[in-house]
Amino acid sequence: MFGRFFKREYARVVYSSEYIYGLPSMGRHQSFDIMRFKKIRDKLVKERLLTRRNILRPDPCSYDDLRLVHTEDYIKRIKDPQYASKILKLDVFNLLYNSILEYFRVVTGGTLLATAYALKWNVPVFNLGGGYHHAHPDRAEGFCLVNDVAIAIQKFRHLQRGKKFMIIDLDYHQGNGNLLFFKDDPDIYTFSIHADTWVEIDRQQNKDILMSSGCTDEQYLATLEKELGESCLSFRPDVVFYIAGSDVYEKDTLGDMKLSREGVLRRNQYVFHRVRERKIPLVILAGGGYGQDSWEVYYDFIAWGLRHKS
Ligand SMILES: [Zn+2]
Repeated sequence: MFGRFFKREYARVVYSSEYIYGLPSMGRHQSFDIMRFKKIRDKLVKERLLTRRNILRPDPCSYDDLRLVHTEDYIKRIKDPQYASKILKLDVFNLLYNSILEYFRVVTGGTLLATAYALKWNVPVFNLGGGYHHAHPDRAEGFCLVNDVAIAIQKFRHLQRGKKFMIIDLDYHQGNGNLLFFKDDPDIYTFSIHADTWVEIDRQQNKDILMSSGCTDEQYLATLEKELGESCLSFRPDVVFYIAGSDVYEKDTLGDMKLSREGVLRRNQYVFHRVRERKIPLVILAGGGYGQDSWEVYYDFIAWGLRHKS
């Protein structure tokens, strides 16, 4: 009865049980729901949109993969769990902290697996995690220790020479790590709508749009529709990474936008359609999402994506 979901034209999901271990829900980051991605996986299975067998399971990315973006010195430092917990401003007395770098390596492995699969089969692939867009080559920021999207782009551009990559980042927060890392790169276009700017950059292959706090579905979607189609069309990317941050949701405990559950789904569907109508391989990352309700909106998107013939 699940046969039609195994066909390759349908979206796929990347997840590992290790995704829940590395994210302590203590101290400054108590708004994290560490079960967020497991809840999504469980409901997709319960609703018979996904079977456990059909989930793509990543291995941790290698240290060579980390070196594609991060400096040797930084990698050496974040191997120390005490250091990693300190720079992420976590309580140092939690045993789970030993797995912080391991968590980021597995999620980055997930983004790499999603990218490989999307390129090979040209289907949309959802990673139940990822989109750590604040991480820099030599420092962490905003709970992002490792920049998974930048690593995936650096890795696959060697296999896909001359290809152009686009990052559509609709997380509540600006993806400053990616912006800075790719600022002199003509083959990468960064498109971002956010309510929280971290860095000002003036570059051609970039659209950086600041929305007001409290913006509504209508305001947000009007801006997205006006700006994205044009950017996508003019740049003609070969691969798109979509950071579908859930922290724009009105029930999010960190962001202060007022997008309804339906509005976030419409946002996600709009991006999906604009990319897939051009048959561009699409890698979708979870991005941010805080509080006990945030998992719902990424679930809605994946459930819709799994039903939708791409
Ligand atoms: Zn965010």
